Amino acid sequence: MGLTIYKNIGAIVGAETAPAPVKAGKAMDNINVVNDAWMAVADDRIMEIGSMDTFSQMSFGGACRVVDLDGEWVFPSFCDSHTHIVYAGQRDGEFIDKINGLSYEEIAARGGGILNSADLLHMTPEEELYRQAMVRINEIIAKGTGAVEIKSGYGLTTADELKMLRVIQRIKRNAPLEIKATFLGAHAVGRECVGRQSEYVDLVCREMIPEVGAQKLADYVDVFCDAGFFTVEETDRILDAAHKWGLKPKIHANELAVSGGVQIGVKHGAISVDHLERTGSEEIEALRGSSTIPTMLPGASFFLGMPYGNARGMIEAGLPLALASDYNPGSSPSGDMRFVAALGCIKMRLTPAQAFNAVTLNGAAAMELSDEVGTLTPGKLANFFTTVPQPSLAYPLYAYTSPLITHVWLAGEKIY
Ligand SMILES: [Zn+2]
Repeated sequence: MGLTIYKNIGAIVGAETAPAPVKAGKAMDNINVVNDAWMAVADDRIMEIGSMDTFSQMSFGGACRVVDLDGEWVFPSFCDSHTHIVYAGQRDGEFIDKINGLSYEEIAARGGGILNSADLLHMTPEEELYRQAMVRINEIIAKGTGAVEIKSGYGLTTADELKMLRVIQRIKRNAPLEIKATFLGAHAVGRECVGRQSEYVDLVCREMIPEVGAQKLADYVDVFCDAGFFTVEETDRILDAAHKWGLKPKIHANELAVSGGVQIGVKHGAISVDHLERTGSEEIEALRGSSTIPTMLPGASFFLGMPYGNARGMIEAGLPLALASDYNPGSSPSGDMRFVAALGCIKMRLTPAQAFNAVTLNGAAAMELSDEVGTLTPGKLANFFTTVPQPSLAYPLYAYTSPLITHVWLAGEKIY
């Protein structure tokens, strides 16, 4: 690919020379913007960033390619640290049922809910599952995402969980964005163990985790630790079993109740605890002094009409905050991270700078990818998108449905 110079950039957002791995508390108020700028990209990496008054094409020699961006803005790619993008079919019928006021039980009887997604996934060949997931991967790339975490959890049998994780690994090999894989066998109790939850937890610990570990199919382990799903004790057991295989935890916690999920995540050194719609001072206290990143999923709150997490409370307590899409068929059928950031501002009262940090660097940190992505920094991957000239940093989140993105680059290569 060689050396490419992008010149006449209206502004580069998130241009940082030596960023911290994660921004916490007051640091989340700051995002560096270089106006009237240029950026040099060598192969797949950012080489240098400067302002146009220091620009001299000659200093790069004759061999470089020059792209005039004519006032467009450059943003670091979004880093989406929590998704369920691999699934079979969709649940738009359930959407109509919800509008018509059907209960959760009635919807499940008509083919909704996690267990029905599992039935559908079971019947879908691996090749078709991959094809459907790649449509969504290409959709989020076009929306500006450059790194994504993908969970299993619609298999709920050993064979089907492994099938999902193989699809994620195949996406990892073929898609141009950064990918982390998470094993979420404990998303719900699989159909053949309904009513015998401890038997299912045994299956997760004794059969699924050793297979996932031995085949190196996942980077992380997740448990839905919440009311009606898995208890703190069961989560503890699963995380212990996963630890033996080097699978670090990322936990679904405190979405439906004050579940103890935050504390058990912190105890096990979780990379992140996610959802957090129902958290109070005890959870904030547990997170302080830990390296666990609180992650909120406002798209799910929006779609389900549920409370939003106390994002400002977390930041005021000096904690970092990441926002992710939770892209999944049942509770958040969108992977649009710009919309997630807009919800952060509109519904959680984050400032635009806080929201952008939450969907870029802090999302990268919640996937242990801060060294590679999350800011536009010499040495990091050249993952970025361009937009039409913006009046301010706030504007893309304020005018949240106006067309914005003009082109997308991943690892230095123009994708769109
Ligand atoms: Zn989720």
